[in-house]
Amino acid sequence: AAKDGGRNTFRTFTKDMHDASARRLAIQTRLAGAHSRGDISLMYQPLIDAKTKRIIGAEALMRWTDAELGSIGPDEFIPVAESTGLIIELGGWALDEACRHAREWRDVIPNFHMAVNLSPVQLIGSDVASSVKSALLKYGLEPKALEIEITEGLLIKDPLEAEVTLNELAEIGVSISIDDFGTGYSSLSYLHRFPFTTLKIDRMFVMDLPHNEGSRSLVTAVLALAQRSNLKVIAEGVEDQEQAQWLTEQGCDILQGYLFSKPLLLDAFSALLDNRDTTDDGKTASSKGQP
Ligand code: C2E
Ligand code: MG
Ligand code: MG
Ligand code: MG
Repeated sequence: AAKDGGRNTFRTFTKDMHDASARRLAIQTRLAGAHSRGDISLMYQPLIDAKTKRIIGAEALMRWTDAELGSIGPDEFIPVAESTGLIIELGGWALDEACRHAREWRDVIPNFHMAVNLSPVQLIGSDVASSVKSALLKYGLEPKALEIEITEGLLIKDPLEAEVTLNELAEIGVSISIDDFGTGYSSLSYLHRFPFTTLKIDRMFVMDLPHNEGSRSLVTAVLALAQRSNLKVIAEGVEDQEQAQWLTEQGCDILQGYLFSKPLLLDAFSALLDNRDTTDDGKTASSKGQP
């Protein structure tokens, strides 16, 4: 019986492997034509000024809905797009689209800034600095209205290349943030080597605030370090009032999370800006929309 069990386990294992690679292949195949079919879009999640609780920006997040596969999350399709190189096209489009709306929304909120995620593949495989420059120029957008988010991965894999490109971006004057801070393996020395302006504390550390002592001391240390290094801090994944209050008291600059709003479709985000209550003292954003 033990032997049979073992064989069944093996069969299940190989079947799972087969299913996983079949899905990956299906994703790869469908993704190749997704952009031209108009199936790729951006959603916008508000960034909230911790002190005033007003919207001061948005993070653009990519979405894909396929006619056959349904809706696929970026955590699943971005890695595929990176491995095929398609991310260069998709990411270039996202940059352009996000800048276009940033220009519009800056008329509503003067210091509005748009955060765009950039894949490490874009940073080394394409001339990102020129793409950024032309997008800013095309829409007449001030550099400080744009924030480029990158994760730590590339800094470790190819620090020399990363340094060159990030310095080019810094020279343009756009903000550069280190995304998902705390989840990678980069040492704190990276913060000084690269021209970061902003640090985004990963949701993982925000989740258990303020009750978990480990999270609390980590976030406190990060905030102290950021203050000394003149970095702006954004907390991701803020889901309840207690977290928001604690983070604000500790000096975190910007809050992002479901407490304020999930990522919103273009029209919903525009409506939010148009209807926002300028005299409010509490919540600025609604919780409409889908993740
Ligand atoms: P990220 O850049 O760290 O984005 C934040 C993620 O956290 C988003 O997931 C957002 O929807 C989610 N989130 C925000 N607030 C909350 C909250 O309060 N609770 C919870 N549970 N989640 C929250 P999303 O949109 O699924 O994106 C996942 C990741 O995919 C992003 O993580 C980013 O690494 C990548 N990604 C998304 N769009 C793009 C893109 O245009 N280009 C590239 N290269 N990567 C992208
Ligand atoms: Mg991000
Ligand atoms: Mg993040
Ligand atoms: Mg993330």
